[in-house]
Amino acid sequence: MPVPFADLQLQYQNIKGEIDAAIAGVIRDNAFIRGHYVDNFEREFAAASGTAHCVSCANGTDALYLAMRALKVKPGDEVITTAHSWISTAAMITHAGANVVFCDTDGATFTIDPAAIEAAITPRTVGIIPVHLYGQPADMDAIMAIANKHKLWVIEDCAQAHLARYKGRMVGTFGEAATYSFYPGKNLGAMGDAGAVVTNDAALAEHMTMLARHGGLVKHQHRIEGINSRLDGMQAAILSAKLPHLAGWTKARQQAAEVYDAGLNQIEDVVVPAVGPQRSHVYHLYTIRHPRRDALAAYLSANGVQTAINYPTALPFLAAYARLGHHPEQFPNAHRDQRQILSLPMFAEITREQQDEVIELVRTF
Ligand SMILES: *Cc1c(COP(=O)(O)O)cnc(C)c1O
Repeated sequence: MPVPFADLQLQYQNIKGEIDAAIAGVIRDNAFIRGHYVDNFEREFAAASGTAHCVSCANGTDALYLAMRALKVKPGDEVITTAHSWISTAAMITHAGANVVFCDTDGATFTIDPAAIEAAITPRTVGIIPVHLYGQPADMDAIMAIANKHKLWVIEDCAQAHLARYKGRMVGTFGEAATYSFYPGKNLGAMGDAGAVVTNDAALAEHMTMLARHGGLVKHQHRIEGINSRLDGMQAAILSAKLPHLAGWTKARQQAAEVYDAGLNQIEDVVVPAVGPQRSHVYHLYTIRHPRRDALAAYLSANGVQTAINYPTALPFLAAYARLGHHPEQFPNAHRDQRQILSLPMFAEITREQQDEVIELVRTF
């Protein structure tokens, strides 16, 4: 029995009536750009994420750009982020006009090491972007303490962490702003590209809204030079249809992670994901470590189990950052992990049988 990495078609079939009705409504109302479907989703997602304002935009990458531009990043500024993330986090620092400063991860949770942040701060540092990678909150108490001490802003990259909590508090509510992606495969996914920034700061929200809409809030009144980054009505309606299911899907992912943990943690050479104290992990990805990762991935693939590597090259070692001249010894954890990480099939609808098959194959390997 083949086991897919994720199964978006199955998710759709389970809620087909709701999705089809949402799409039909947008077409009926001609509400393709802005309009009430977008307004409704912004209101609903602000509530779901525990924040006052949600500014929707075209994708999670633009969300990072908008947040940094609204925080008035300027040339010469340094922004600290993790060595282990999707490239958007770092690339948008550059596009917003600042210099990227990478920090290593903590060696256990795949999230940024607060001690490395402290060591990377210079007089030019203006902000920190922790990433709640794979769905696990970064160590927000330690990060906020550093930010407060040095008067830095914090943007939480929540692209993989919808509804995750740190000490009971929702991610995305700690910093000045938090960015989300609704890329189809994310825990809350549209049927195309979509993203948002959430914040409790009304002025920041207004500035980001303006930036995303050609620099104005009223048609033909361009107060600044903005960009065009819109969540379209179709995606908004689809996201509104899916949002009520998110808590249940999250619980299902967490239960699936428990099944994997129990089945895999006694197997030699397999390191199951470590979860830091008082962090609720929402398992966008269930990522193990294995010293013979490539051989294990090939064996699983040959037996019909799809896996992924998130990500094969840590950010400092990508060609895009060759100009920074980084060495593996500067990021020992991220460098070790890029050779050992393997993401196993994980989605809300995964069955016990599918998981048993994955576990058994890892055991026989
Ligand atoms: C997906 C993702 C993004 C970017 O989101 P897009 O919607 O694909 O632009 C940013 N950061 C992280 C950590 C992500 O996983």
